[in-house]
Amino acid sequence: MTSYPLEPTADEMRAMLAEASERVVAHIVSLPDQPASYDTETGRAEAAARREDLPEVGAAFEDLLDTVFDAAKPTFNTAGPGYLAYIPGGGVFPSAVAQLVANAVNRYVGVWIAAPALVQLELNVIRWFCQIVGYGPGSGGILTSGGSLSNLTAIVTARRERLEDDDLRTGVIYTSDQTHHSVRKSAVLAGFPERCVRQIRSNDRQEIDVAALRATIAEDRAAGLRPFLVVGSAGTTNTGAVDDLDALADTARDEGVWLHVDAAYGGFFALTERGRSAMAGLERADSITLDPHKGLFLPYGTGCLLVKEEQALRRAHATFADYMPAMQHDADYVDFTDLSAELSRGYRGLSAWLPVKLFGIGAFRQALDEKLDLARWAADELRARPDVEIVCEPRLSLLAFRLAPDGVEGDALDELNRRWMDAVNRRQNVYLTGTMVGGRFALRICVLSFRTHLDRMERCMADIDAARAEVL
Ligand SMILES: *Cc1c(COP(=O)(O)O)cnc(C)c1O
Repeated sequence: MTSYPLEPTADEMRAMLAEASERVVAHIVSLPDQPASYDTETGRAEAAARREDLPEVGAAFEDLLDTVFDAAKPTFNTAGPGYLAYIPGGGVFPSAVAQLVANAVNRYVGVWIAAPALVQLELNVIRWFCQIVGYGPGSGGILTSGGSLSNLTAIVTARRERLEDDDLRTGVIYTSDQTHHSVRKSAVLAGFPERCVRQIRSNDRQEIDVAALRATIAEDRAAGLRPFLVVGSAGTTNTGAVDDLDALADTARDEGVWLHVDAAYGGFFALTERGRSAMAGLERADSITLDPHKGLFLPYGTGCLLVKEEQALRRAHATFADYMPAMQHDADYVDFTDLSAELSRGYRGLSAWLPVKLFGIGAFRQALDEKLDLARWAADELRARPDVEIVCEPRLSLLAFRLAPDGVEGDALDELNRRWMDAVNRRQNVYLTGTMVGGRFALRICVLSFRTHLDRMERCMADIDAARAEVL
């Protein structure tokens, strides 16, 4: 009898699921007790120990799970409650289940006709996101693999809308010196020479200097160039700064350029009252990058680009081939391939649909409000400590700070603060990263994990105090 190892029996599938679910749950409940970070040398050795040859025959499922969970354990723990570095990701549990289901079902969602109702569930997600940022009828968007690909899609769309094909060498894109580096990378990937990307200086709140932006646009126009895109930030990765979005929207309107807002970090705070007021004007952008795998706490792999006018996305991406089924041209029925660079794609919409339906959006709003509270709490705590200076107040849930004792300046001050951060991280309860603000080193705290609560922030503050005593 022929055997087909790629098709396990019903009992074999049940056994695999049971085994995997045991390990998954054990892993997740152990997260708070796992170290927040480990040293790079350990990681290097662990990785080297796992180099493998292409196996000709299979191995036992349990042994393979051992390998995977072993490899997942001692991490620079992006999933744990102590991860306050960079921009934390999420990992709400129902999304993991959703991916299991989506991959098990494996329906084709690149074109509407292949799975109309499943496509509709993902379209519901897009519609909800449009509602969250304040977009009205006619708006739309696409789920991507992350913020970087959303920014790339935005640049390509803006180019198709505002430039002629031959303008690639003269079109100009305006960013600030705080804009996420994926924007520059995307511009280059989209075919623009790097000299076409302007970095407008930011003010002392790290927000784009709008007067300088207007002046540069005028100069470029006078020089025969074609300004076509301004990229604003709603929550920079560096210090959490939010550009004056209303002023940017006015500028874009006056200049006839496309306004894209990178809200990969900040966007979902629009669910909260404080977030909405911090990001006033967001809905006036022509396109917005959101990162559900940050602010909506989904696992890595889900980004989003929203556009005020869905047709713009379609004009930029729709193509035709003889072997393809007929595309939908009714606004209610969307072929994702018509709006994006992808044809075949995973059913990533379920990662967002399931948790939002299961918990309700109120649960996410509450969690985001908690993050805003925790960041403000941390700023107040730090401000009350002698020799500590808040370099960037939290506009959303990110703040920057440093030790500035009398008589320590320049490089010595940077060095002291680097040692301070290392001494905090060495305790392995939280993981912080630093950055340069105004040419000087500062520590950052970004509260965005749904698993971070007051107890961990108190732990963080205790470690900050202990580390301070150690380095001063
Ligand atoms: C994280 C981030 C990005 C990039 O998003 P990825 O999902 O990591 O590709 C872009 N812009 C900002 C502001 C970000 O915080």
